[in-house]
Amino acid sequence: MLSSKKVRFGIALILLTGFVCLLGFLSRTLPARFSLSSDPYASVSDIGFYFDTVVELQLNGTGDHRLIDECFDLMKNYESLLSRTREGSDVWKINHSSGEPIEISDDTAALIRLSQKYYELSGGAFDITVAPYTALWDFQNNPGNVPGDEELAAAGRHVGLAHLHLAGNTVTLDDPAAAIDLGGIAKGYIADRVKELLVGRGIRSGCINLGGNLLAIGTKPDGELWNIGIRRPFAEVSDVITTVRIDDLSVVTSGVYERYFEADGMLFHHILDPESGRPVRNGLYSVTILSESSADGDALSTACFVLGREDGMRLVESLENTEALFISDDLSLHYSPGFPQAG
Ligand code: ADP
Ligand code: MG
Repeated sequence: MLSSKKVRFGIALILLTGFVCLLGFLSRTLPARFSLSSDPYASVSDIGFYFDTVVELQLNGTGDHRLIDECFDLMKNYESLLSRTREGSDVWKINHSSGEPIEISDDTAALIRLSQKYYELSGGAFDITVAPYTALWDFQNNPGNVPGDEELAAAGRHVGLAHLHLAGNTVTLDDPAAAIDLGGIAKGYIADRVKELLVGRGIRSGCINLGGNLLAIGTKPDGELWNIGIRRPFAEVSDVITTVRIDDLSVVTSGVYERYFEADGMLFHHILDPESGRPVRNGLYSVTILSESSADGDALSTACFVLGREDGMRLVESLENTEALFISDDLSLHYSPGFPQAG
């Protein structure tokens, strides 16, 4: 039989272990250096510039700006991991691998896997290997440049996701001239990671806006739904064509008016047809996707734009918890059946 002293010692040890575990858990979810406010209307917000775009954060239930700083640090880290142009990033290493296998981070591998999924789902409309085309158009540094037919055809010979092989965290591009561009999905993925961080810190209400990838945390502080404006194509950012009321969802728009230039009376924008390498022209101005994950929404908004209204709508309707708004170039609005329409 155990002596009562031993039993007491055992109980004390169990209690102590439990206490230490609880402390460990709390320190991971709510580090003491961040303070949540007992006032749900307390709020901090700020604007930053990452991934070549304006990002905005609004957090409710806290007055602690260090939470925002932590989110900006996270974005900075993702920028150095996923940028196509920054030397040493995972994407840069893949694109300079000369056909050799490369080790990449878990995040980059997850993003590539998700990109493969949307390539399959969209029948190749969403294709991160459009990079040889995007390099020719060079919207970021040299807008106005229209590549010739031969240049595009030559680049097209190195486009196609079949060139990319991923096993665990090892990626191989079997064509040294092939390359990837995560611009159609990375911002959504990063928005999801920022939300994860904030929810882990106890934030229950807030809004993350990564250059048009909008991700809501919970509801507004008063429990009301968020009212998200969908921008009128080519108008001022503040000019909205309609609004959508949501909670805890992602709202992502891909549109011709986000990055474009005009030449010879034609509009050239940055969403490219993987077949031809030219900007997609199908009578659409934009596609907005509602979904839980912003990475899904980002890939889908680009994919549906390339697919066009009919095929894009069919894809959206085949997916659970996903709704879409297509805006045509006559400014008419086309909603998927479950879309929470205004009014
Ligand atoms: P935004 O950056 O305005 O949010 P999108 O999410 O619509 O735009 O993505 C457009 C970006 O995706 C382009 O700038 C390019 O980097 C990349 N891209 C262009 N065409 C495709 C395509 N067919 N499939 C996947 N990515 C693409
Ligand atoms: Mg996208």
